[in-house]
Parts: sequence; structure tokens; C-alpha cells
Amino acid sequence: MTGVWETVPRIAYLIACFVVGTFMGSFISVLAYRIPRNEQWIRGHSHCPACGHQLGALDLVPVWSYVFLRGRCRYCSARIGARYLWTELVAGGLFAGIGWALGWSVDALKIGIMTVLALAVGIIDFETGLVPDALVLPGTAIGVAFGALSGWRGLLGSAGGAIIGAGLFALIILLSRGGMGWGDATLGLMLGSFLGWRLAIVFLVLAFVIGAAVGVILMVFFKKKGKDAMPFGPAMALGAYIAALAGKNLINWYLETLFYR
Ligand SMILES: [Zn+2]
Repeated sequence: MTGVWETVPRIAYLIACFVVGTFMGSFISVLAYRIPRNEQWIRGHSHCPACGHQLGALDLVPVWSYVFLRGRCRYCSARIGARYLWTELVAGGLFAGIGWALGWSVDALKIGIMTVLALAVGIIDFETGLVPDALVLPGTAIGVAFGALSGWRGLLGSAGGAIIGAGLFALIILLSRGGMGWGDATLGLMLGSFLGWRLAIVFLVLAFVIGAAVGVILMVFFKKKGKDAMPFGPAMALGAYIAALAGKNLINWYLETLFYR
């Protein structure tokens, strides 16, 4: 019986994380739509991009509204892009992953906020090639504030992560003149501030591995040329997420294979 009482709340918590994540995914779509257009994103109701009709509460329920409305606007029947549904489902999955790896903790809340910001920036970078300061600068402040919650060590760890995250890209930009942009540095600043210095190193390694893998796939299967600019933001967002959830295990595994074999 004890097994049931331990398992049921855990499953309920993961389902709750998924549901919260789908709402966050809906919010991410709002951010990714409005911020590049310099629209108000906190206040102001959502409108259908096709007919401009103000959306009601029923239109804003994630996943459900898409399925219920069969992917069309209730007012003008314009097709709603499937990307909204995918963003909601992916965010739900990522949030369930956070709940699974970090449990019910301040860390889970922190990484949830980081994931929302990282996904929004990743989508905006992918679509426009720009990393919006309007997200990454307040995001960095939030990351540092979370660090300060655990005292001076946390504050220094967060500041160190921000410096490592931004510094590597600043160095690459200054040495190579091209390839990386300052947007990558500001995104690194924000992600590093959330992760702290140790996980920031893991995040950078993962971002470059993911970026290189995606680059090879694009060249081999989609005939992209090596010099075609590819936004690095999505690889950084994914790298930061994996570092936040599995970074400590990855560090241990790396040190063990390095020293004990
Ligand atoms: Zn419409």
C-alpha cells in the first residue's frame, strides 16, 4: 500500500507539471509572436492574427482548444498553425521532465522559468535571427535573484555562470569575426545566470555538440552549405535544459571515466 501512496502523488505531480507546461507553451507562443513585433505582451488580450477578433477564455485553453476547434479560428475559420499545438505539447513534456528530475523544489521553479524564457528566445532566434534584449536582460536578473536566494555562494555561482556563458561567445566573436553574434552572448549570459558556473560549462559543451550535430544533419540531408547562417539559439536552449536536468550526473560520469579507468 505504501507503494501506491508514494506513486500516486508523484504521477499526479507530473501530470500537473505537464498541464502547467501546456499553459506556459501557450504563453511562449504569445511572447514569440509579440516581442519581435514590439507589441505589449503582459497586458492586452490575444487576437486572431487573421481576422483580429479578440480571443475568449475558451480559445486560450492549450491543446484542448486546438483539438476542440480543429485547428481553426472560431470566428473566421482561418487555420491556426500547428506550431501552436506543438509548442504547447513540447513545453508540457519539458515541464514534466523538470518535475521528474527536480521534484517539488525551488530548483524546479527556477528551471521552469528558464525553460519558458529559453524556448521563447529559441523560437524568436530561429524565426528572426535575433535574440531580444527585452527577454534575456530581465531573464538574467531573475537568474541572479534565484542565485542570491541561497546566499553569497549562490549569488557568486550565478554571476560566474553568467560570465562564463557570455564570455565564451564574446571571445569567439572577438577572435573569429563572424559565425557567432552578440545575441548568442546575451543568451549565454541569461542561461549561465540560471545554471551557475558548474552547469554553465556543461551547457556550453552540450550547446556546441547539439549545434554541430544539427549542422551536419542540415548539410547532409537538407543540402545546406556550411556558410549558411544557422541560428544557434535553439541549440543553446536545448543544451541549457539538458544541463539543468542531468548536468550533475554528466559531470560525475565525466570525472569517473576520466579518473577511474
Ligand atoms: Zn480569426
